[in-house]
Amino acid sequence: MPEKGWRELPIGGKILQGGNSVEYETGSWRTYRPVVDKAKCINCMRCWLLCPDSAIYAEGEEMAGYDYMHCKGCGICEEICPVDAIEMVLESEKDKIPADERGVKAIEEAREKAK
Ligand code: SF4
Ligand code: SF4
Repeated sequence: MPEKGWRELPIGGKILQGGNSVEYETGSWRTYRPVVDKAKCINCMRCWLLCPDSAIYAEGEEMAGYDYMHCKGCGICEEICPVDAIEMVLESEKDKIPADERGVKAIEEAREKAK
Protein backbone atom coordinates (compact mmCIF):
# COMPACT_ATOMS: atom_id res chain seq x y z
CA MET A 1 0.00 0.00 0.00
CA PRO A 2 1.57 3.37 -1.01
CA GLU A 3 2.21 5.73 1.90
CA LYS A 4 0.18 8.95 2.08
CA GLY A 5 1.36 12.39 3.02
CA TRP A 6 -0.52 14.27 5.76
CA ARG A 7 -2.32 16.45 3.18
CA GLU A 8 -3.92 13.33 1.69
CA LEU A 9 -5.28 12.00 4.99
CA PRO A 10 -8.98 12.62 5.77
CA ILE A 11 -9.55 15.40 8.34
CA GLY A 12 -9.36 13.95 11.84
CA GLY A 13 -7.76 10.76 10.50
CA LYS A 14 -11.25 9.30 10.08
CA ILE A 15 -11.76 5.92 8.44
CA LEU A 16 -14.24 6.65 5.67
CA GLN A 17 -14.50 3.20 4.16
CA GLY A 18 -15.86 0.09 5.85
CA GLY A 19 -14.28 -3.37 5.58
CA ASN A 20 -10.73 -2.13 5.14
CA SER A 21 -9.11 -3.89 8.11
CA VAL A 22 -8.02 -6.65 5.76
CA GLU A 23 -5.52 -4.20 4.21
CA TYR A 24 -3.67 -3.67 7.48
CA GLU A 25 -0.91 -6.10 8.28
CA THR A 26 -1.46 -6.30 12.03
CA GLY A 27 0.71 -9.43 11.99
CA SER A 28 3.77 -7.18 11.89
CA TRP A 29 3.06 -6.21 15.54
CA ARG A 30 3.64 -9.75 16.73
CA THR A 31 6.42 -10.87 19.12
CA TYR A 32 5.03 -14.37 19.69
CA ARG A 33 3.15 -16.47 17.13
CA PRO A 34 0.63 -19.18 17.97
CA VAL A 35 1.28 -22.69 16.68
CA VAL A 36 -1.32 -25.44 16.93
CA ASP A 37 -0.73 -29.13 17.55
CA LYS A 38 -3.49 -30.81 15.55
CA ALA A 39 -2.88 -34.10 17.33
CA LYS A 40 -4.29 -32.45 20.48
CA CYS A 41 -6.87 -30.11 18.90
CA ILE A 42 -10.50 -31.24 19.25
CA ASN A 43 -11.87 -28.64 16.78
CA CYS A 44 -14.05 -26.98 19.41
CA MET A 45 -13.54 -23.68 17.50
CA ARG A 46 -13.30 -21.54 20.63
CA CYS A 47 -10.11 -19.98 19.28
CA TRP A 48 -11.83 -19.16 15.98
CA LEU A 49 -14.75 -17.59 17.83
CA LEU A 50 -12.69 -15.50 20.26
CA CYS A 51 -9.75 -14.33 18.13
CA PRO A 52 -10.10 -10.52 17.99
CA ASP A 53 -8.51 -10.37 14.53
CA SER A 54 -10.41 -13.19 12.83
CA ALA A 55 -6.98 -14.64 12.14
CA ILE A 56 -7.87 -18.31 12.50
CA TYR A 57 -8.75 -20.35 9.44
CA ALA A 58 -11.63 -22.78 9.47
CA GLU A 59 -12.09 -25.48 6.87
CA GLY A 60 -15.45 -27.15 7.19
CA GLU A 61 -15.70 -27.95 10.89
CA GLU A 62 -11.94 -27.95 11.45
CA MET A 63 -9.58 -25.36 12.84
CA ALA A 64 -7.01 -25.05 10.05
CA GLY A 65 -4.25 -22.77 11.31
CA TYR A 66 -3.44 -19.08 11.34
CA ASP A 67 -3.52 -16.09 9.04
CA TYR A 68 -0.18 -14.67 10.13
CA MET A 69 -0.72 -11.48 8.15
CA HIS A 70 -3.42 -10.51 10.65
CA CYS A 71 -2.59 -12.46 13.85
CA LYS A 72 -1.06 -9.91 16.20
CA GLY A 73 0.08 -12.51 18.73
CA CYS A 74 -2.17 -11.52 21.64
CA GLY A 75 -2.26 -15.09 23.00
CA ILE A 76 -6.03 -15.22 23.66
CA CYS A 77 -6.32 -18.42 21.62
CA GLU A 78 -3.64 -20.11 23.71
CA GLU A 79 -5.34 -19.00 26.91
CA ILE A 80 -8.80 -20.32 26.02
CA CYS A 81 -7.87 -23.60 24.29
CA PRO A 82 -9.38 -26.33 26.52
CA VAL A 83 -6.79 -28.96 25.58
CA ASP A 84 -3.59 -26.87 25.49
CA ALA A 85 -3.15 -27.48 21.78
CA ILE A 86 -1.77 -23.97 21.16
CA GLU A 87 1.72 -22.81 21.99
CA MET A 88 3.01 -19.24 21.66
CA VAL A 89 6.45 -19.29 20.07
CA LEU A 90 8.92 -16.40 19.88
CA GLU A 91 9.05 -15.08 16.30
CA SER A 92 12.84 -15.35 16.36
CA GLU A 93 12.53 -19.07 17.18
CA LYS A 94 9.75 -20.00 14.78
CA ASP A 95 12.06 -21.97 12.47
CA LYS A 96 12.83 -24.39 15.31
CA ILE A 97 9.18 -25.54 15.36
CA PRO A 98 8.13 -28.16 12.81
CA ALA A 99 4.93 -26.46 11.63
CA ASP A 100 3.59 -25.56 8.17
CA GLU A 101 3.09 -22.00 6.86
CA ARG A 102 -0.24 -21.77 8.72
CA GLY A 103 1.34 -22.78 12.03
CA VAL A 104 -0.09 -26.28 12.03
CA LYS A 105 1.92 -29.20 13.34
CA ALA A 106 1.12 -32.91 13.52
CA ILE A 107 -1.61 -32.71 10.88
CA GLU A 108 -0.89 -36.24 9.59
CA GLU A 109 -1.13 -37.65 13.11
CA ALA A 110 -4.47 -35.87 13.58
CA ARG A 111 -5.84 -37.29 10.32
CA GLU A 112 -4.78 -40.81 11.29
CA LYS A 113 -6.50 -40.39 14.67
CA ALA A 114 -9.71 -39.18 12.99
CA LYS A 115 -9.99 -42.34 10.78
S1 SF4 B 1 -2.69 -14.88 19.06
FE1 SF4 B 1 -4.47 -13.48 19.21
S2 SF4 B 1 -4.63 -12.58 17.17
FE2 SF4 B 1 -3.33 -14.39 16.96
S3 SF4 B 1 -4.72 -16.05 16.39
FE3 SF4 B 1 -4.49 -16.09 18.63
S4 SF4 B 1 -6.23 -14.88 19.38
FE4 SF4 B 1 -5.96 -14.37 17.22
S1 SF4 C 1 -9.45 -23.85 20.95
FE1 SF4 C 1 -7.87 -25.47 20.88
S2 SF4 C 1 -9.04 -27.37 20.63
FE2 SF4 C 1 -10.41 -25.68 20.14
S3 SF4 C 1 -10.22 -25.48 17.87
FE3 SF4 C 1 -8.77 -24.04 18.82
S4 SF4 C 1 -6.85 -25.20 18.89
FE4 SF4 C 1 -8.46 -26.69 18.59
